[in-house]
Amino acid sequence: MTLTTNSVPPHRAGETLAELRAEAARTHELDRKHVFHSWAAQARINPMTIVAADGCYVWDGEGNRLLDFSSQLVNTNIGHQHPRVVAAVQQQAAKLCTIAPQHANAARSEAARLIAERTPGELNKVFFTNGGADANEHAVRMARLHTGRHKVLSRYRSYHGGTDTAINLTGDPRRWPNDTGTSGVVHFFGPFLYRSHFHASTEAEEADRALAHLDEVIRLEGPSTIAAIVLESIPGTAGIMVPPPGYLTGVRELCDRYGIVLIADEVMAGFGRTGRWFAVEHFGVVPDLLTFAKGVNSGYVPLGGVAIGPEIAATFDDRAYPGGLTYSGHPLATAAAVATIAAMTEEGVVENAAAIGAEVIGPRLRALAERHASIGEVRGTGVFWAIELVRDRTTREPLAPYGGSSPVMDAVLAACKSQGLLPFANFNRIHVVPPCTITAEEAAAGLAILDSALDLADQSLT
Ligand code: PLP
Repeated sequence: MTLTTNSVPPHRAGETLAELRAEAARTHELDRKHVFHSWAAQARINPMTIVAADGCYVWDGEGNRLLDFSSQLVNTNIGHQHPRVVAAVQQQAAKLCTIAPQHANAARSEAARLIAERTPGELNKVFFTNGGADANEHAVRMARLHTGRHKVLSRYRSYHGGTDTAINLTGDPRRWPNDTGTSGVVHFFGPFLYRSHFHASTEAEEADRALAHLDEVIRLEGPSTIAAIVLESIPGTAGIMVPPPGYLTGVRELCDRYGIVLIADEVMAGFGRTGRWFAVEHFGVVPDLLTFAKGVNSGYVPLGGVAIGPEIAATFDDRAYPGGLTYSGHPLATAAAVATIAAMTEEGVVENAAAIGAEVIGPRLRALAERHASIGEVRGTGVFWAIELVRDRTTREPLAPYGGSSPVMDAVLAACKSQGLLPFANFNRIHVVPPCTITAEEAAAGLAILDSALDLADQSLT
């Protein structure tokens, strides 16, 4: 089974394969000489060169086409090079490339309106940032100023970004070397039935016990000291753990009881990824602040932001908000958001994500779990799925340690790539997170490659 074709990609017609390869070789050489990469030991990495992308596909430096089951960093919800978004950026560039944040601008105003229209409840004001981490930084700052309190609670097994407060909020190993311990962040355990911290055996037990635990953490930390609880509505990189029914409504109730601001981090889960515009919609919960980035314009131009509810917005009606950035609501980024949201709406992209999850990815991953002894659990919704690979289904020992990789995980990923599939992996998990625009045929073809690559994982068990 292979999807690989060796050809000149559509957006580079007119160039020869030899020219593409020569350019890619030069790109790679300069990258290794001069580019400093995120989260990496610089001498130990060998970045894949991408020369082109289109829809759900990317082309590597050899001209190999790969089906993108990663959406890059789970951000190209609308797929690569969507013509309406590309045209909107081009038109905005011709009209007005940049403008300072203190001025009103058509692209920014319209993007804010479209976002406010789609967020739940009355999250009607939008503060724009450059990405997800700074959105969370500002949400926390707003919550602290609004409440006059300092502490912030977030869960283990989460990711909230790479900047100072955001990395302290993060509950994965990327926090460890960055943890200054000074930001007033306290971590708690969220629900995760497959690896329950609460010895629960049903979703209802897990929800009840996780809520009782959070209530206890709040009381022991002192409710009057806690400004906010920050939660990914469905934790993403940490494992796509869809919370059990009742959990998020329970967190909302705790926040209301103790006067704590609820911040929903929808940077990864938002804008269609879960089959709804926002993941909180699955649970009927309205947060006080909602942070977003990635899918808002599929990352065509960097953009993030905070959608703000009426109480917190009112705090800053007559009191200056002490925060800002030069590129807040940048015209190119917000024009890309306007076009992305319009295209997603008119083309039924969110509905497509829901249908592909329910009809193709979910059922097929569950079928894979019956065939492959290495699959411990399948979970997800929309185009937001994870399979948990284990050495032993009874002990649930992961196929790679928490925070690390393993030769067998590396082999499975390499097998996917050699057959034309670009996967997303984290520790012992493979995430199936293609663009929300993926067709049933494309999804099925990618899952067939995953199926064959997983034979390597099964063989390692014997
Ligand atoms: N929050 C979540 C849930 C994320 O997944 C990410 C990035 O992956 C971030 C925040 C940080 O976003 P950015 O990388 O745009 O700063």
